[in-house]
Amino acid sequence: MAAGSAVPVPASHLDAARDAEAATVAANAAMAARLPFADTADFESASRGLIAPVPDGLVLAASGTVLWNLGDWSFIDGEAAPATVNPSLWRMARLNRANGLFKVTDRLYQLRGFDLANMTVIEGDSGVILIDPLTTAEAARAALAHYFAHRPKKPVIAVIYTHSHADHFGGVRGVIDEADAKAGKVEVIAPNGFMEAVGGESVLAGLPMIRRAQFQFGALLPRGARGQVDAGLGKAAARGTPGLIAPTRLIVQPVEEHTIDGVHIVFQLAPDTEAPAEMHMFYPAFGVLNMAENACPLLHNFIPLRGSVVRDPRVWSRYIGDAIRLYGDRTEVMIGQHHWPTWGRAAVLDRLEAQRDLYKHIHDQTLRYMNRGWRPAEIAEAIDLPPGLAERWSVRGYYGTVSHNVKAVYQRYLSWYDGNPCNLHPLPPAPAAAKLVQYMGGATAVIARARADFARGEYRWVAQVMKEVVFAEPANEEARSLCADALEQMGYQAESATWRNAFLYGAQELRHGVFQLPPRFMLSGDILAGLSTDVLFDALAIRLDPAKAAGHAFQLNWRFMDRDEEVVLTLRHSTLTHRLAERSDRAAASVTTTRAALDSVILRKISVQDALASGAIKIEGDVAKLGSLFGMLEQPGGLMFDVLTPGAGRR
Ligand SMILES: [Zn+2]
Repeated sequence: MAAGSAVPVPASHLDAARDAEAATVAANAAMAARLPFADTADFESASRGLIAPVPDGLVLAASGTVLWNLGDWSFIDGEAAPATVNPSLWRMARLNRANGLFKVTDRLYQLRGFDLANMTVIEGDSGVILIDPLTTAEAARAALAHYFAHRPKKPVIAVIYTHSHADHFGGVRGVIDEADAKAGKVEVIAPNGFMEAVGGESVLAGLPMIRRAQFQFGALLPRGARGQVDAGLGKAAARGTPGLIAPTRLIVQPVEEHTIDGVHIVFQLAPDTEAPAEMHMFYPAFGVLNMAENACPLLHNFIPLRGSVVRDPRVWSRYIGDAIRLYGDRTEVMIGQHHWPTWGRAAVLDRLEAQRDLYKHIHDQTLRYMNRGWRPAEIAEAIDLPPGLAERWSVRGYYGTVSHNVKAVYQRYLSWYDGNPCNLHPLPPAPAAAKLVQYMGGATAVIARARADFARGEYRWVAQVMKEVVFAEPANEEARSLCADALEQMGYQAESATWRNAFLYGAQELRHGVFQLPPRFMLSGDILAGLSTDVLFDALAIRLDPAKAAGHAFQLNWRFMDRDEEVVLTLRHSTLTHRLAERSDRAAASVTTTRAALDSVILRKISVQDALASGAIKIEGDVAKLGSLFGMLEQPGGLMFDVLTPGAGRR
């Protein structure tokens, strides 16, 4: 295999990683003894229908840069897990190595292992329908080329986005042209609320989400038995160029039926489940049910570690139940937009019922304990999957965990606050840590005790207490190193890929510092163009520096010629508010422009001054007010902010 690693961090970081401690070896052995490793049906399903693997295991940029290299995971071979990997996670890491073009049924194919998600291809009468064009144009282009290398080359008639997460739409520009979508030559179909969900989830809090996603996916961890082995949903998220083409048709009814290029598709909306806008599909002619990302062979997240608005497991469970009722008696194969299919009606129903009950069980039992006054961390320890579920591979916590899903349920109903007023107004992390460590007799004394606990295998506690020493004394190398060692053992024991990645990446940042990525603008032009003007003005409002805005009060009228929209923007009390479809008589100035021009200013492709000079932005009234407003907006901060240490300005 040609080519190097697709990970931009030195593999030598693994040299600092320690081996599994005795307690980790014992914990992983206990897990291996408890789970049904004799049941290997998933391995047959994951390889069934393989036509050809990903060519050379590679996705390259046009420049030749390696963006994706399945060879990075070639160390994952053999049934026996290394001592540094949880054996259940090792099993999933092996399964997720299956890759290539797969035939599911006549006229229905899947491309797996080009990215985190799958691209599904349905062969219509005259062309192909693509479902979920991966995260990046490069990944989607490579996947489609691989399909055409083995199947008749036909035009793309339609693209369907199952939901609003970037691994399911971001590569669309690699497979269709926007002009064809606008001209009606290619349909782009999405669930109702798709564009609002894309903007709502990933824009206003987008930057910290990207930073936190580094921990969830381990993107900056070297691959290896002491590093990243998997991401739960697949091997990793693709690198390359993300984009978005807006849907040309939305599915708005709870169930809608359409025939697209001769293929009858029944769409079932499932909003507020794994994504705010999501839908399942049933293809009656093939007997195939596509559950999008709502019934993966694992426990999914009620909140992913990257952060999100809390999902609703009650509704999620109900939509799975609806799919069983609507399509259960006609389904022969279930597919998803991650992982491998399930063949056979009985097996499909069994899997769906387990997923339905999994999400409902965690929801209900968390509330049962909440109603007895239990606190989040206590409930997280108390709840386990019940018999009948616990021993099934398809509900294991490779991505979500019972522990953090319990906390998500608590947050959904009762907030972050556990109700104890002692927790209502504590000191912030750094000053609290300084006091704690001082009370405990100073850093040296704390580290000495923690070393003894480390030797006893009490890694959770060691990480918890070393966090205090690191926050009290961020430069204390002994504390950082012991904290890293404890996190690392927790990573080696974690069944969840996202937990493993978070623990190991935390250890890496403590040992080697924060990896400095080259600066880049976090918001893609496509996502910005796709934002409603309503959300766009909120995206500007969250950048207002209140000190710079203090004492200013004015209104600006905006008219966007390309969208036929009007907005009144009001600055008062160091706060920006806006009203759509209104115009003020008392505005200091009236701006006439296009959304395209404003987007260019926000993306810093042109300055306000240049836009004014070129006439891209026209102002009547007090011309200085626009520049004054932009002068009050903070530029987005750097991505690689401190996570494991207090961070400047936050002591
Ligand atoms: Zn996904």
